[in-house]
Amino acid sequence: MMEYIIKNRKPEAIFRSFEDICAIPHGSGNEKEIADYIENFAKERGLECYRDTLHNVFVKKPATVGRENDPSILLQAHTDMVCEQNEGTNHDFLMDPLDLYIDGKYLRARGTTLGADDGIGVAIMLAALDGAFESHPALECLFTVSEETGMDGVNEFDFSLVKAKRLINLDSAELETVVAGCAGGVRCNLDFKGTRSVSDKKAIKIILGGLAGGHSGENINDGRANANKLMGRVLLALKEYGYELSSLNGGGKSNAIPRECRAVIATDDVNGVLSCLSKMADEFKIELSPLDQGFFLKSELLDEKVSVFDKNAGDSIVALLGIAPNGVFEMNKYIKGFVEFSRNLGVIVTKEDNVSFTFFARSAVDAQLEASNRELEALAQLVGATVIYSEAYHGWNYEPVSPLRDKYLSACRELGYAYPTVQSLHAGLECGIIKSQIPDIDIISVGPNVFDLHSPDESLDLDSVEQFAKILEKTLSK
Ligand SMILES: [Zn+2]
Repeated sequence: MMEYIIKNRKPEAIFRSFEDICAIPHGSGNEKEIADYIENFAKERGLECYRDTLHNVFVKKPATVGRENDPSILLQAHTDMVCEQNEGTNHDFLMDPLDLYIDGKYLRARGTTLGADDGIGVAIMLAALDGAFESHPALECLFTVSEETGMDGVNEFDFSLVKAKRLINLDSAELETVVAGCAGGVRCNLDFKGTRSVSDKKAIKIILGGLAGGHSGENINDGRANANKLMGRVLLALKEYGYELSSLNGGGKSNAIPRECRAVIATDDVNGVLSCLSKMADEFKIELSPLDQGFFLKSELLDEKVSVFDKNAGDSIVALLGIAPNGVFEMNKYIKGFVEFSRNLGVIVTKEDNVSFTFFARSAVDAQLEASNRELEALAQLVGATVIYSEAYHGWNYEPVSPLRDKYLSACRELGYAYPTVQSLHAGLECGIIKSQIPDIDIISVGPNVFDLHSPDESLDLDSVEQFAKILEKTLSK
């Protein structure tokens, strides 16, 4: 018999289920066992259950007495978790149960992620299937896999099984927030090829770094500088002194704002280049955000001769870098202060005669993502580069009218909880993909407080789970 550590909290079924799940390893790609658990849970309660080959699980629970004629609601959460641990913890995420402990009003796992993202959503759905909520319409519960590694589960799920036109996604982590939109995204690679030869000019390596970086969606409006784009400004300014471009490398991930960029050039005017760099370093320091206070712009003289792009190719690469539009393009027209459309030039890699630029565009509006693609294609055509897209997924645009959101907000008000703020995320949620499959579905994304997601400091605010359960119960009762 399992010894539960969370005691005297209601509804008990949520906390029991959460602890049960924490005993089952369920990192992304390893969801078979947790799917078995959910399937058995449904079967033991005589509920209709469907499972696909990816281990997405879909369970139906009939309406409570008197609610049979109300339209059904889809509840959805992902079963996979991010597996991170502190050095020296030696946790085996394929074998070991999480080592839970209570820290004041928080639940944590010793040395590892807790997987409350999105295990708490899974536990809430299991509690709903267990009859923890007094009055509700017919429920459809969708447990998806591999959200954290590209949303493969929701992408492959057969949505013809879903009859509901209302979705409560349980993957948001702030009690005080109702998420009412999310961004779609598309990665775009521009590849430029040029001819090269060895230069007899003096080589200089330019290193620009120390920037804060951050998430290319959620942090795109914080004023954090993009190291690749700053390097573009440097290289455009240096044209006055004459140089040949040898290489350009910056950033590491398309979905992160790059913190560092390096260029190697060859020039006859070393002094001119160095004095221009020092002047620009001073100018950037005045201009940059306090978040980027670690900024530096350094140079090193190289002894060896370097191979460089021919003049046309070098000019094209620098022009492409200099003018490629980056940052926030459109703000949300309904909810003030939220970004709707942006692009991040995340990575630049030089390999032999090829320079590859990787952009990640985000928008809640699919048409804007298409416009972004066309814009990059036009830019590529101007300089003779080729374009490849990958990792495209749909956004969920804010709907001014949402009866489900109104029900949820009025449930909060009736319970006397702070009226949550309505937000649109500039990051991806499974909701965008569900919306693309069921265009007329009314969606909210909500959940209790989970802090430090994706890190071994992750914690679940237990009071907020109790409060959230009451809000959800009230919402379902309406
Ligand atoms: Zn999540």
